[in-house]
Amino acid sequence: MFSPTDIGIDLGTANILVYTKNKGIVINEPSVVAVDIETKKVLAVGTEAKNMIGKTPSNIQAVRPLKNGVIADFDMTTEMLKLLMKKVSKKIGISVRKPRVVVCTPSGATAVERRAIHDAVKSCGAKQVILIEEPVAAAIGADLSVSEPVANVIVDIGGGTTEVAIISFGGIVTSQSIRIGGDKLDDDIIQYVRKHYNLLIGERTAEEVKKQIGNALADHEEQTMEIRGRNLVTGLPKTITLTSTEIHTAIKESLQDILNIVKETLEHCPPELSGDIVERGVVLTGGGSLLNGLQEWISQEIDVPVHMAPNPLESVAIGTGRSLHVMKKLMQLA
Ligand code: ADP
Ligand code: MG
Repeated sequence: MFSPTDIGIDLGTANILVYTKNKGIVINEPSVVAVDIETKKVLAVGTEAKNMIGKTPSNIQAVRPLKNGVIADFDMTTEMLKLLMKKVSKKIGISVRKPRVVVCTPSGATAVERRAIHDAVKSCGAKQVILIEEPVAAAIGADLSVSEPVANVIVDIGGGTTEVAIISFGGIVTSQSIRIGGDKLDDDIIQYVRKHYNLLIGERTAEEVKKQIGNALADHEEQTMEIRGRNLVTGLPKTITLTSTEIHTAIKESLQDILNIVKETLEHCPPELSGDIVERGVVLTGGGSLLNGLQEWISQEIDVPVHMAPNPLESVAIGTGRSLHVMKKLMQLA
């Protein structure tokens, strides 16, 4: 039923992944484009472009064309997809000039935003573009039994958004989405360091701090990390040492916002499905779920079991690709 050129794309705000049936994940790169702002020429995409963030001369800008899970800059997104699709062709050794593409859309996306995602993928030469709800893809990729009439709760913490959905029988029973994800935590850290140390640090430094010493639990074994930035008073480079307790303080409000939508979604659960949730619990996925202590903190706060997806950074891409097999049941045609 499927041609070998069927592919699944996870068009994330932080990372883009491409999955093919035979080769699995063939592309996994940051959603970043480096452009020359004078000539508008795209100089690099993906990892190469991310490495340029904050380090380039002023005529070269590294931009993230997807914000909050949707397309903020249409032309850049298309350009990035085109270049990444070329890489896919090279990697899988066959032409992907006319593939059928399944791509996921955040559940909070508007009709216009969905259309933009559809059109961007189509303009890269896809023969057919099929949109699937991202939480459904995430649940399939996290090995949940989505086609059975039991409640599966998926919490996907991405770069720009967090989406919480209760899925049963292949569809979304209820879902909530907020435009807060891992990027907001990075920003919280930047603001904290600026306020308390008069020091300006870049996005990449903030992300490293979060990954290394960030912790969702107030009570944890303290760690420290040395970072460099620019002193806002003297303008000179300066090194400081941050503690994981400080980082916890910096990010705790955003974490609380994430927790609140998990709680709200559970409150909207139809009573017949509540029993399943108490028994089966909640599954965390998305890169943001890898934050130290997050799984433990959420389970303390919601009183139902909390599990991690097997591959939090890959669930959506894997699920998008696998959904081709259960297309009829699960697809929401564009
Ligand atoms: P998207 O679907 O929006 O592309 P991803 O699911 O790829 O997002 O997750 C990206 C987010 O996960 C980023 O904010 C990144 O900083 C965060 N992240 C990745 N690894 C970790 C980690 N070990 N600890 C905390 N956050 C992480
Ligand atoms: Mg995602």
